[in-house]
Amino acid sequence: MSMSPAAALDRVVYLLDRDLAEGRRVQAYAKAAEIARELGDDEVARRHADGTITDVPGIGKSTSKVIALAVDGGIEDHLAELEAETTIPIGEGAALRAALKGDCHSHSLWSDGGATIEAMARTAMALGHEYLVLTDHSPRLTIAHGLNRERLLEQLDEIARLNEELTPFRILTGIEVDILEDGALDQDVDMLERLDVVVASVHSKLRMPAPEMTRRMVLAVASPHVDILGHCTGRKVVGTGRPQSTFDADIVFAACARFDTAVEINCRPERQDPPEELLQLALDWDCRISIDTDAHAPGQLEWQPYGCDKAARLGIEPERIVNTMSADDLIAWAASHPTE
Ligand SMILES: [Zn+2]
Ligand SMILES: [Zn+2]
Repeated sequence: MSMSPAAALDRVVYLLDRDLAEGRRVQAYAKAAEIARELGDDEVARRHADGTITDVPGIGKSTSKVIALAVDGGIEDHLAELEAETTIPIGEGAALRAALKGDCHSHSLWSDGGATIEAMARTAMALGHEYLVLTDHSPRLTIAHGLNRERLLEQLDEIARLNEELTPFRILTGIEVDILEDGALDQDVDMLERLDVVVASVHSKLRMPAPEMTRRMVLAVASPHVDILGHCTGRKVVGTGRPQSTFDADIVFAACARFDTAVEINCRPERQDPPEELLQLALDWDCRISIDTDAHAPGQLEWQPYGCDKAARLGIEPERIVNTMSADDLIAWAASHPTE
């Protein structure tokens, strides 16, 4: 056996996630990895040898091919090919990427992510980050299994436990709090106060008229608990796509500047939010910027180069980017927003 089949399947999952592969396809490999781990390497090899591996529910044609390569040899070449195909390119943003110390927007299995907090944190460590802000969804985003108060409290305990193990790396506590239709935030204020970093985003009624959307966003941005405005237009540029929400960007970005709320460059390839002309407007208003992956899986934590290239094209300096700060400085900044 040249490589553990489960480890090979795990790596395929990571690389497919990095490539924004279709969820069902990634899940097939993830499920196969889990099955291979349960069966154990010897049993997997035995079943591969006697031709019964695809009789195991959850092991199909593509996943058994990876198993065959892991058992018989050739997996290294196969993975190297996949590595090369899915490498995230970086151009003029290389220096900015090197200046980033962490990622302020990420999800785990606790909401709609595909991996444990620990797996996300260990990947962030491997990418050279000093910290990862975990920002699972808030309760009313039920399709994303948003965390209610009790589960968020449980998550804080889990993070405290993991931080002891992973030190000096730090998982910072956070939330991607839903901006409700009236501009209110979908979590108790004392919880928002307690978290290190709060990302606030619109996820519903994206088509509301511009005056209402402007008011909704400004109310959220003006909250002293909100640190980062997530994917501000809500657009999707891949597949069937989704148009941008309409709002008065001058007013929203003026509020971001006034209340020192950073505007997120969301690096997800299907979001690429905000578009460059809007980002330029945020810079004209002197807003701070955060370059975040919004990763829902470990491989997606590699997406920051997309945002860094965009930031570099617009001449954004590292001093303007909140996640070039150390963890302590970031937390201090997040606690310092003016209240009026
Ligand atoms: Zn999500
Ligand atoms: Zn979001």
